[in-house]
Amino acid sequence: MKKFIIRKTKGKGKGLFAARDIKKDELIAKGNYNKLKKWTPKEIKECRIDSDHWDYAGRGKYVLDNSPVSYINHSCEPNCITKYKSMQVYEVRTYKDIKKGEELTHDYSAGAFDIFGKKDLWEIRCLCKSKNCRKILSRNYFELPKSKQKEYYSYLPPSIKKKYRKQFDILFNE
Ligand SMILES: [Zn+2]
Repeated sequence: MKKFIIRKTKGKGKGLFAARDIKKDELIAKGNYNKLKKWTPKEIKECRIDSDHWDYAGRGKYVLDNSPVSYINHSCEPNCITKYKSMQVYEVRTYKDIKKGEELTHDYSAGAFDIFGKKDLWEIRCLCKSKNCRKILSRNYFELPKSKQKEYYSYLPPSIKKKYRKQFDILFNE
């Protein structure tokens, strides 16, 4: 049986909803940005494709991802997590037990690396209404609350762990 359906949310456009009870750590979907065309912010402006589905793919470039995964909305207290093999290849898994009918969410900032200074994209006011809602989504992982940075660390790709090793060393040794 299908794990999820796409349908309209209240005020957040479309979203993904559990079509049955889903246990923690079940695979929701796999993604691979290597198969998609990479766009620079300049190209995106020029082509005028206005979409909520521009995702950051690393190295200053974006992809237009219209797969079901791209309909997962953000929450500051997500029930799904993206597990990165690299910044381009990833799996979305459930992070908690989810009941049928619940909306699937993940934390957009958990994969927010190297996106500095792209103010024209990704300026999102959060509508998740969770108790610990951060209100404005950061495009910088290191602006997440420290507890969240630690929590999401094991899901990051090796390249990011290596590139930011100093920051992570400081984080974990504080
Ligand atoms: Zn929030």
